[in-house]
Amino acid sequence: MKQEIVKCVGINEDGYAILQPKIRAFVRMLPGEIGTVEFEGKEGRLVKIENPSPERIVSKCPVFDQCGGCTFHHWDMVKQLEFKKTTVKNLFSFVKAPIEEVLPCEVDHHYRTKNQMVVFANKKKQSTLGMYRPYSHQAVAVTACYIQDTLANGVFGHIQMLLRDFKVEPYDEDSKRGIMRHVLIKVGYQTNQVMVVFVMAEPDFKGRKIMFAKLIEKFPQVKTIIIDVNTRSSSAVLSGKQKTYVGNGYIEDKLLGYTFKISASSFFQVNPRQTEKLYGKAIEYAQLTGNERVLDVYSGTGTIGILLSKKAKEVVCVESNRWAVEDAKVNAQLNKINNVKMVLADATEYMIRAAEQGLTFDVVVMDPPRSGATPEFLNALKQLNPKRIVYISCEPKTQADDVKQLISDYQVTKIQPVDMFPYTRHVESITLLSLKTA
Ligand code: SAH
Repeated sequence: MKQEIVKCVGINEDGYAILQPKIRAFVRMLPGEIGTVEFEGKEGRLVKIENPSPERIVSKCPVFDQCGGCTFHHWDMVKQLEFKKTTVKNLFSFVKAPIEEVLPCEVDHHYRTKNQMVVFANKKKQSTLGMYRPYSHQAVAVTACYIQDTLANGVFGHIQMLLRDFKVEPYDEDSKRGIMRHVLIKVGYQTNQVMVVFVMAEPDFKGRKIMFAKLIEKFPQVKTIIIDVNTRSSSAVLSGKQKTYVGNGYIEDKLLGYTFKISASSFFQVNPRQTEKLYGKAIEYAQLTGNERVLDVYSGTGTIGILLSKKAKEVVCVESNRWAVEDAKVNAQLNKINNVKMVLADATEYMIRAAEQGLTFDVVVMDPPRSGATPEFLNALKQLNPKRIVYISCEPKTQADDVKQLISDYQVTKIQPVDMFPYTRHVESITLLSLKTA
């Protein structure tokens, strides 16, 4: 192992400390700090800091030193927000619009309503729940995650005990032996309903029925239990091959007064308090009067489309995950909405078809995954020529690249970063683009 004295001169947008001499490894140092670091692969272990930064705080998470779940438990929250604003500002340096202050997350602990833990063998070979180390597939035991919902933490702890009592073997990635791979928990923030998904290399285990009964006895909030059989070695946690053993396979939650179905395989925002702020901004930026035709593309379970429907004439939601589209249809019914159409399609294919057919939309809301949209999508979007585009993104880097493709026809009028994930490097960004009038 190589030890070096390094100076941190900044933090890059991926949360990496920028070091002198230049070493590309993940180390939890803050700007201005000089320290001794032991480098191993992509990780740097801080041995000693000569001059701790005044921005350094004592981590409230007991496993922060080892866990790769978060990035910034050692950094003052004000500075984290400044970092997030600067990240967005630097990426959007090509536009004139000012960057709004980051919408902060007032409750910065136990905010996540979805979490997955890996199951691994501890020294005594017992099933243990935890997270991966930074940039690694080595696991570290996590008993009470600081950002995960407290009810979920309790359920995780009890599950670990049950796995040991019932001698359910952890899966081993190297030998490909064992049963239990991951446990995924989703919680309804307003409803307190809990979903548990056991991700397993086998379809069943001995004592499963009694174990599930014991889990529900201890936590009656657990409304549904699913087994997902995943025999692949890719990094995707869920395979989608699922069987529901308890309940209906879904839970419900409420956002801004609307009810939404949450299932195992469809996307649902994980920080409900901030989601209400984010969606509130999307509604504000859409500036609907009741007469508009709106396209909500990359629509997930139709959350944004449904929220916008009250003030729109018609909404079309486009999404490629068939589970999400099924949920979206149920969500429209649950909320008695009948001016929203849910379409199962690849976003780019839909946009190209819509442009060819000359469909018209006054407002397009887009919320793609981290990879952003495709050049073909953006070309078709320009042909569709909506008056406004509300672009929501969890990866401002790709959002900025996409916006560059649109500025020939559109002017960026607002950029609002939102802190959906305190203590991590991630920042959500919502951008309003308005059609340039010739
Ligand atoms: N707007 C939703 C979902 C955003 S997450 C919400 O706020 O909840 C991004 C969504 O894009 C996911 O549901 C994902 O399944 C979907 N997606 C990813 N690639 C896609 C593609 N090529 N075409 C359509 N949808 C896609």
